[in-house]
Amino acid sequence: MIVGIDLGTTNSAVAIWRDGAASLVPNRLGERLTPSAVSIDGERIIVGRAARDRQVTHPDQTATNFKRLMGTDRKVTLGKREFGAEELSALVLRSLKEDAEALLGEPVTEAVITVPAYFNDRQRKATRRAGQLAGLTVERLVNEPTAAALAYGIHQLDDQSRFLVFDLGGGTFDVSVLEIFEGIIEVRASTGDNRLGGEDFNELLMAAMLDRFKARWGDRPGNALSQRLRDAAERARRQLSQADSAAMALTWQDETFAMDISAAEFETLAAPLIARLRDPVLRSLRDSNIHPDSLSDVVLIGGTTRMPLVKKVVARMFGRFPNTSINPDEAVALGAAVQAGLKSRDAALKEVVLTDVCPYTLGVDIAQRLRGGQWEDGVFAPIIERNTTVPVSRMGRFQTMVDNQSHVEFGIYQGEARMVAENIKIGSIRVKVPRGAAGIPVDCRFSYDINGLLEVDVSVPGSGEQAQLVITDPADDIAPAELARRRAALAALKVHPRDGEANRAALARAERCWQDALGEKREYVGQLIAQFQAVLETQDPRQAEQARQQLEEALDAVEGPRFL
Ligand code: AMP
Repeated sequence: MIVGIDLGTTNSAVAIWRDGAASLVPNRLGERLTPSAVSIDGERIIVGRAARDRQVTHPDQTATNFKRLMGTDRKVTLGKREFGAEELSALVLRSLKEDAEALLGEPVTEAVITVPAYFNDRQRKATRRAGQLAGLTVERLVNEPTAAALAYGIHQLDDQSRFLVFDLGGGTFDVSVLEIFEGIIEVRASTGDNRLGGEDFNELLMAAMLDRFKARWGDRPGNALSQRLRDAAERARRQLSQADSAAMALTWQDETFAMDISAAEFETLAAPLIARLRDPVLRSLRDSNIHPDSLSDVVLIGGTTRMPLVKKVVARMFGRFPNTSINPDEAVALGAAVQAGLKSRDAALKEVVLTDVCPYTLGVDIAQRLRGGQWEDGVFAPIIERNTTVPVSRMGRFQTMVDNQSHVEFGIYQGEARMVAENIKIGSIRVKVPRGAAGIPVDCRFSYDINGLLEVDVSVPGSGEQAQLVITDPADDIAPAELARRRAALAALKVHPRDGEANRAALARAERCWQDALGEKREYVGQLIAQFQAVLETQDPRQAEQARQQLEEALDAVEGPRFL
């Protein structure tokens, strides 16, 4: 069985293709989303909701948001151990794999995993390796917007149908334009703003509340107060997705602070952020050369698109309502399952091929003659522009600069800056040229394939001289023995047994709640914890289940319903 996995920054999900349809596979807690959080408890690993709740009570033992570190060498220390983003992602993937196996009653060994369209080659390879470390053969990596479009059935539409996928998550904003052409889905453009998401809206609410109570709290809230403010903001913002007003409330040093905010006030507050949604949309349409009227659909994904404000601005931008028929946090996993179905050639699916885009501009350094006759060195000459569909092969023609030049050397760069110094150097290549007056033509061809391999061919048409270079990232390719060693190290980590998971998650939530509360409320939560622990000690699963439900209800009453 091949599963589809959305390995998200905040939450992850797994889905399968079965009987002609994609469906999500609930985790061991019966939930469709699993927080991408890992915590270490003594020697044991905890993944998912319980880990997320431990972020507050055990911040030094808990990691979240590690997707942002994919493809870097940064390490996260949990307790006494160090983990890379690949290992942490592998632990989440392994947990999803086990959940799917438990539910399906069969081994899951292959997966289609989604990645952001802007992920570079190094980040993609890191994701693939995370899958391998989790014991999965990663059949394919699919871009998140492509997966969303598959979930919305782009592959069943007529040729040349176009989709715009508007993805506003917790911390990033991505816009992609996709087109299906002769059975091939192309990402025609992908742009975005990697510093815009739900969290920024929370910060506005936090600032407003801080401003209101600054006489009491001072200008600089400490970590504990900030955490509480963030939580209150998140709750209020979610409430504003359903109601015309919301209360932001929190307890701090035995006192309750509350502030009402209406949808209209929030709209005014959020206007500058909402305005920032427009530019990437326009850029993606411009880059893909597509008129908004020719879009078959505008689909919304990412939890923050649940905000009515966001839906409204999208409707205004396009003069029509966006398609929101699939839950915005489930579309990507469902689409990955559609791709898994395609992979296993389910008869219900028309054959489609996916292609990707090259996310960065690739080019060489040249010298340019300025008006006064001097030369400007280190100018970037693009050969493959960003957002070009791969595989692609493009050539640039250059000339020797001075008389009797003996060779030409090109530095090869990736990036968007005009000067190469601000781009990333990924290699260099040199070719001999025949002696002669300046202006001898030299051709440089770049061929970029779907696996991120860049082949550079330089040739001098006058002499037939040639040079060739294939660029892969050496840091990306690790030996099978190294992979096996890392997999064994992960396998040796003890994971809490599955069967106590729901109780552990409830307890982690109660402990977080205890830490957040003060005074009588704290005492009450303390009693709830003690009672629950007493029931757990009886080791009677039926009683434990009942007690857990009561505990969750009591906590709902204390802090409002739980959200992921
Ligand atoms: P994602 O990164 O796609 O998982 O989205 C996570 C973001 O979605 C977080 O910032 C949440 O605050 C936001 N979100 C989830 N549900 C809602 C909702 N009902 N209203 C507003 N924002 C939401």
